[in-house]
Amino acid sequence: MYSWQQSQWQQIMQRASLPHALLLRGREGIGKHELAIKLSQSLLCAAPKVDKTACGTCQNCVWFAEEGHPDFKLIAPEDVETSDEAPKKKAAKKSQISVAQIRQLIDYLSLSSHQVNSRRVVLISPAETLNTASANALLKMLEEPPTNTIFLLVTSQPQRLLATIISRCQAIDMPLPAKADSLHWLQQQGISNVEQALNLAGGAPLLALQIAEEGDLIATLTKHLSQGAQLDAFACAPLFTGLGMGRAIDALQKWVFDLAACKLAQQLHYHLSHSNALQALSKSVNLSLLLRFQQQLLEAKKLVNHPLNNELQLENILLQYTQLFKPVKLR
Ligand SMILES: [Zn+2]
Repeated sequence: MYSWQQSQWQQIMQRASLPHALLLRGREGIGKHELAIKLSQSLLCAAPKVDKTACGTCQNCVWFAEEGHPDFKLIAPEDVETSDEAPKKKAAKKSQISVAQIRQLIDYLSLSSHQVNSRRVVLISPAETLNTASANALLKMLEEPPTNTIFLLVTSQPQRLLATIISRCQAIDMPLPAKADSLHWLQQQGISNVEQALNLAGGAPLLALQIAEEGDLIATLTKHLSQGAQLDAFACAPLFTGLGMGRAIDALQKWVFDLAACKLAQQLHYHLSHSNALQALSKSVNLSLLLRFQQQLLEAKKLVNHPLNNELQLENILLQYTQLFKPVKLR
């Protein structure tokens, strides 16, 4: 649990009895899912501590930590991708909680709990990834809840849930953490420029961390791009795919935009602190190839959601980037 969630935790735990369905809602990037996991563990723990957090040592806690608790089910979106290639990056996948997953859940809950009279916990996160069919199947279950089962739903987009589902749950609104708490936590994560990252994230600390980490990644990528013809496309492509295809193309477009600006003696827009590197590259870049490359990036951008092999595609794009520069003469 994050430091800013203490009062929320107490608020939930002070209830005499928990309803059969709880809906945790609030902005993206504030730790709702993590809190729901803590709550699940605590609900299954045989000997919770005074503050009702899980003991961490009982058999239930051990199972839970090993992600093998027989009375806990996490329902998360599954990738729709059909390919069975190596793990895909997050860019191109469209994920949903399918009706098949909910049907499996119904089957599972129709059996008695693993341990006699013990409670079962079902965590559905993020709940807005339920589609129409799976949401309706879940609704039926919430209308006639199985005994001794607690449903936890987590969402940052409650407007995408069926109103009938929301009305079957007790909603808990999770506010943005206080700014001081978020800044303190981000500092502990070793992030520089915490204030800026938190602003960009609209005050959501986990999102700020992600933005800050991507910022570091973009700085690394810029360093690679500064190498021009010497760039190692094969080493660089996995870094770019780590950003996701959309963001990767975006980063390339911005760099190339500034490169063209430099060549045409115009002002830089995005990389003011890299003007020396861009000046040097602009001396050897072939302008007509550069303009054609910009067109290619536009085309690639249209296809970012297409389930291609992103890494191969990026390697190809980066190889073309290296071709924009006249060979460096060895002296
Ligand atoms: Zn325990």
